[in-house]
Amino acid sequence: MSDGIRRLAAVIMLVAGAALLWLAGQHSHDAEAARNDLDSTVANAREHASSSDPRLKTTYSFERGGWVYVHLEGDPATIGFQHGYMLAKEIEDAFPAVQAGMVRSTQRDWAFFRQVAREMLWPKIDPEYQQELQGIVEGLNARTGSQLDVYDIVALNSFEEVPDYYVPWLNKKEKLVGAPNLKSPGNCSAFVATGSWTKDHQIVIAHNNWTSYLNGERWRIIFDIQPAHGYRILMDGFPGVIASDDDFGINSDGLMVTETTITQFEGWDPNGKPEFFRARKALQYAGSIDDYTRIMLDGNNGGYANDWLLGDRKTGEIAQLELGLKAYKLWRTKDGVFAGSNWARDPKVLKEDTPQFDPNNLETSPNARRVRWEQLLNENKGRIDVSLAQQMLADHVDSFEKKTGANERTLCGHVDTAARGVSLWDWGAFYPGGAVQGKAADSAMAKDMELVARLGHPCGEDFLAKPFLAAHPEFAWQEPYLRDLKAGPWTQFHSGEMPVPAK
Ligand SMILES: [Zn+2]
Repeated sequence: MSDGIRRLAAVIMLVAGAALLWLAGQHSHDAEAARNDLDSTVANAREHASSSDPRLKTTYSFERGGWVYVHLEGDPATIGFQHGYMLAKEIEDAFPAVQAGMVRSTQRDWAFFRQVAREMLWPKIDPEYQQELQGIVEGLNARTGSQLDVYDIVALNSFEEVPDYYVPWLNKKEKLVGAPNLKSPGNCSAFVATGSWTKDHQIVIAHNNWTSYLNGERWRIIFDIQPAHGYRILMDGFPGVIASDDDFGINSDGLMVTETTITQFEGWDPNGKPEFFRARKALQYAGSIDDYTRIMLDGNNGGYANDWLLGDRKTGEIAQLELGLKAYKLWRTKDGVFAGSNWARDPKVLKEDTPQFDPNNLETSPNARRVRWEQLLNENKGRIDVSLAQQMLADHVDSFEKKTGANERTLCGHVDTAARGVSLWDWGAFYPGGAVQGKAADSAMAKDMELVARLGHPCGEDFLAKPFLAAHPEFAWQEPYLRDLKAGPWTQFHSGEMPVPAK
């Protein structure tokens, strides 16, 4: 008897046993409780049967500081299976929250996103990542019996590019009357510094992720990926998504990578390759700034257009890749600093890819944070290290009003406190979004495959969902999904670390 048949037989026997229990107990139980017992027995049997799957031999996970650390190892299908299995609970929690946001903002149903995934995105993904995505579906199904298929998972992976880049492009092309006001997001504050700017002349890289709290409180995975091909990866990420997507990661050949999005970016190439796939491929296969740039440019679809901040610890060089669709620009230096807070600066990118963006309006969140980065980085030239970077990510100075207090213009963003909202990104008054977590590393840490990360606002303040929803009933639609976003401690992680056994 094969292992598979033996496991199936075990499941059937357990189910039959549970059914007998149900029959015996139906006079004393009410029918619903018995059905729940049966469901839970089937689920336990399924989980027990699949936990001996040989594909799970090399994977493990643990929680620390509010983060879920997961080690994935093997060929693409195995890495995917481990991802789906180990993060099944997190994927099943995140999927409906992301889905609700995508459907609501675009006024398109889920069938639309599945069709986009199947017809436009899937055919352009390299086979290796198709296998990984299919593996996620199989692992998820093995663990929970989930009915999500590969097009659901591809649509989930595209949540930063299809709703806010493809759909507005499509609405314009189709001249859709009454189309929703969709705008590319303004995600994140970040910098990368090197040479005389840092305390010991090594690279320092830091990033906080700006997003809705709804998505942000679920952006709590530390992926330690040991792929059969390419470089080893340590990155933060989102359940079910193959790229870091916010993005922060290092690889074993010395690349250090982060980004901030380009505000008011417009454009899409339906023949291009999905951004989430290019970003993951670049982190896995780029051993230099040139490699990284080449992979991101190959099939650029304009989705999730970012200013990439890169470092190569082997050479001490850093770079900024401003990746528009019609234009792009690469700056690089071995002695300098590049900061990002959702603004483009190359004249050609500004003109061709962000025609609406005004770089001179210092009142807006991207420009106010640009001014604050310039102040902070200049004041600290020659002293920047990881601990200072952590403080910078938590900064609450509003450079426009020249006062301290968290709002939509501070590096650590708290847009839920701001009556102005951020109209550039279509975030209305008191929008529940802002800086949801932070990460930092330097060259020495990158060499050891280490990073530090803090869940929640990098300043340590908590966001509480219940009082927020009571005060802002206009966000009642988020009630089923929105939870507290509580700050954890700054926590160190490194590749290959094992969970500390319970005492
Ligand atoms: Zn803060």
